Amino acid sequence: MALIVQKFGGTSVADPDKIKAVALRVMELSKQGNQMVVVLSAMAGETNRLVDLAHKMQAIPDQREMDVLLSIGEQATVALFAMAVKEAGLDAVSLLGDQVKISTDSMHTKARIKSINADLIKRHLNDGKIVVVAGFQGVSESGDITTLGRGGSDTTAVALAAALAADQCEIFTDVEGVYTTDPNICPSARKIDRITYDEMLELASLGAKVLDIRSVGLAKRYKVPIHVRSTFTNTQGTWVVEEDKIMESMLVSGVTYNKNEARITFSRVPDTPGIASRIFNPISDAGIVVDMIIQNTRAGDMTDMTFTVPKSDYERAMKIMQKIAEDIGAESVTGDTKIAKVSIVGVGMRNHSGIATTMFHILSRENINIMMISTSEIKISCVIEEKYTELAVRALHDAFELDKANLPLEES
Ligand code: ASP
Ligand code: MG
Repeated sequence: MALIVQKFGGTSVADPDKIKAVALRVMELSKQGNQMVVVLSAMAGETNRLVDLAHKMQAIPDQREMDVLLSIGEQATVALFAMAVKEAGLDAVSLLGDQVKISTDSMHTKARIKSINADLIKRHLNDGKIVVVAGFQGVSESGDITTLGRGGSDTTAVALAAALAADQCEIFTDVEGVYTTDPNICPSARKIDRITYDEMLELASLGAKVLDIRSVGLAKRYKVPIHVRSTFTNTQGTWVVEEDKIMESMLVSGVTYNKNEARITFSRVPDTPGIASRIFNPISDAGIVVDMIIQNTRAGDMTDMTFTVPKSDYERAMKIMQKIAEDIGAESVTGDTKIAKVSIVGVGMRNHSGIATTMFHILSRENINIMMISTSEIKISCVIEEKYTELAVRALHDAFELDKANLPLEES
């Protein structure tokens, strides 16, 4: 007998028939003697619908009331799911965040889980019930309903798996797992069998939207293996696990891209102490997250500084920067929104040389100019012209032979 946490996303519970189908699937495992905890999202589109409604009431909706509103999406699916189970002959109980006691801080609409009380869930499990927990929601110290931020149900599932010391944590979604790259632009993309938390964090933050990134961080911290898989098939998906659970790591595990950033460049700023701080302080004060930063070597007593910000913050950032440029005596500040960041990710890079060189060679072979480069231990990113994104992704995917299953890493 195992204790299994299964989370189903919005497309998996999009209508009554889908909810019934998922309930039957869960009941199968229950009948085999497993204790089942199910975490559900709202029906597909429901959270968006609620957000739109809120904006019809207030231009900037009150955050506390927003959470009261948003939490009803998940409240509906857990109740319906429990009914479906009962109708099919087993017992189930739905629980909301404040009933379980999923305690969070009070940052409405983006709260963080502080603790989970597993007692009530365990009691219901021991009574032979399937426990159905509303994802994405918790309760603050003052007793107010909170939500965890869009996509937050994944985090609920991983946090519950950790709190219950579950044997398995499975995240069901509408794709078969995590792919080596976006199958929409590269038909030879392959489903990855196993990937490390660190690789997944890089892939998730770079836009592979299968798993919410916060849930991966949590899973890493509490060593919860996650199985991401499809609701609509029975095939194995992708396991996100600790590094030592992977026998044959790939040199490169995935190629990913991000078209949501824009570039800002200061030309010829004085190369003196304090300049970087004067440029980036107002940016962070405005709540804008900077991704890549490159400062050139000195030319005389001047230097160039380039960085990227989310496209959605570009106009705001430019306004702030134009003001700063005058203050610090920069020659000019220019921007470019037609860029994309293409990255290769893999733990194998840690002890292998030449991966970056191969990446640069492939891009040059395709005549793609690299505007910025940044690296981490397990990732190399290049900023290129946006219009070459698809070409770059396909060329890199080919060059690193990611279409071939588990090429073992030769020791060097
Ligand atoms: N229903 C919420 C959303 O759409 C949470 C989730 O589905 O994970 O963001
Ligand atoms: Mg999701």
